[in-house]
Amino acid sequence: MSSLGRSTRRHFLAIFGATATSSILLKACAGNPPTESSAVNAPADTTPTADQPKPEVTKAKLGYIPIVEAAPLIIAQEKGFFAKYGMTEVEVSKQANWGAARDNVVIGSQGGGIDGGQWQMPMPYMISEGKITTNNQKIPMYVLLQLNTHGNGIAIAGKHKGKGLSTKIEGGGKALFAGLKSAGTKFKAAYTFPGANQELWIRYWLAANGINPDTEVELLTVPAAQTVANMKTGTMDAFSTGDPWPYRIVKDGIGFMATLTAEIWKDHPEEYLAMRQDWVDAHPIATKALLKGIMEAQQWCDDPANRPEMAKILSGKNYFNVPENILIEPLQGKYDMGEGRVIDDKSMGVLYWKDASGSVSYPYRSHDLWFLVECVRWGILPKSELANFNAQIAKINREDLWKQAAQELGVPASDIPTSTSRGIEKFFDGVEFDPENPQKYLDSLQIKKA
Ligand code: CA
Repeated sequence: MSSLGRSTRRHFLAIFGATATSSILLKACAGNPPTESSAVNAPADTTPTADQPKPEVTKAKLGYIPIVEAAPLIIAQEKGFFAKYGMTEVEVSKQANWGAARDNVVIGSQGGGIDGGQWQMPMPYMISEGKITTNNQKIPMYVLLQLNTHGNGIAIAGKHKGKGLSTKIEGGGKALFAGLKSAGTKFKAAYTFPGANQELWIRYWLAANGINPDTEVELLTVPAAQTVANMKTGTMDAFSTGDPWPYRIVKDGIGFMATLTAEIWKDHPEEYLAMRQDWVDAHPIATKALLKGIMEAQQWCDDPANRPEMAKILSGKNYFNVPENILIEPLQGKYDMGEGRVIDDKSMGVLYWKDASGSVSYPYRSHDLWFLVECVRWGILPKSELANFNAQIAKINREDLWKQAAQELGVPASDIPTSTSRGIEKFFDGVEFDPENPQKYLDSLQIKKA
C-alpha cells in the first residue's frame, strides 16, 4: 500500500481512480486494529422525555475510528444521550480504517454497512461526488456537525531530535530535507488516508516552513501500525496523527512531536459527523434526535470534571482497547512533546463544544470551503471546481439542521452562530484565509500546485 503515495500520479489515482482494486487496497490499509466491533448499550441513567416529537426510527448505525475525534459518538451512546431523545437502538460501530468507513457508507446500513458517522474532511464531499468510491458511485451525504477541534499533531522519528523540527522549522531543519533529498532518500512523511485532514495538516506545516511537500518530501499513505513500526526501524521520518498516538510515540521512545495542529491553526476544524442524504431526508426528526444526543455528549466531554471518566470509557475493550493512562494526559491538554517542550494548556487539547473562537460543534460552511480550497492548492481537486464550491457546500452542509436541533435542545442563543462563516482564519505562518476570497488565499501561498 505504501506504493500508493510514491508519486503524484499514483496519489491522484488513490483519490480519483477508486477502482475495485484500489478500493481493496485502501481497505487493506488498516489505520486501526482490523477487528470490527460494535456496541449497543442500554441507557444508564436517562429515559426518553415525553414532550418531544417521536423519531421516525429508533435505529441508526454510525461508524467511528478509534481516535479522540469519536468521543461524542461514544459518549452519546454510553451516557444514554441518544436514548434520551428517543434513539434507543443506535449502533456505534468501529471501522477498520477510513477506506472501510467509506465502503460501509456506500452500502448503507441496509446492506450491512453504516448510515454515516465520523469523517475527515472533505471525505463527505468526495463520497457525494463519487471521487473516492468504487466505480465513482455518487452517494450524496450531508455534513451535520463538527465533532472536535485539535487533538492532532505531527510525529517525527527520534533520530531527528535536536535538528530544529518544531512548529517552525529552524535553520538546520531545512538542511535536513535537502540533505536527504540529495542522498536519494527523501524525508518520508505518512498519513492513513490520502486527500483529507492528516495529509492537509502535514502539507500545510511543511509548505509554511518553505519545504515543498511534492518535491522535497516523499508523502505516503500507510496504515498507522506500519507507520509506527517503520518509525521504530528508522525507515519512516514523520507522520500526521491524532491522539492518543502522539502520546504513545513519545512514551514509547519512538520519536517526538514537532507540533500540534492547535499550534498550526488554533481552533481549527477537525472531524465531522456526516450521514447519507437518503437517511436524513427520510428521518428528519431522528436526525435531530441524533444531533441533540451528540451535542449533549459534546457538552459533557468539555466539562473537565468528566475527562477522567471519558478516558475510562474510550479506553474500554469495546472501543479503543488501549490502557486508560495513555488517554488521560492528552485529554487534559498535557503534551510532553518529547524534545524538552511541554504543553500544559486545556485550550490546546481536544475540545468538542466550545473553543476560544466560539462554537466547535456548529459546522461552519467557511471551514468546508477551506478544506476544498486546500485540495485545489495541492492538485487533489481541479482548479476548475473552485467556482462550484459554494453551491456544493450549500447542498451538503446542513447547518440549518444543527441550528434547529440546538434550539430544540435549549442551547442559549449566544452559543448558536449567526453566520455560516467564521470569518478570516489565521495560520501560524501569518497566512490568512478569507472565505470571501479563496483565490486571494491561493495567490498568497508561496508553495502550491495550483
Ligand atoms: Ca483527525
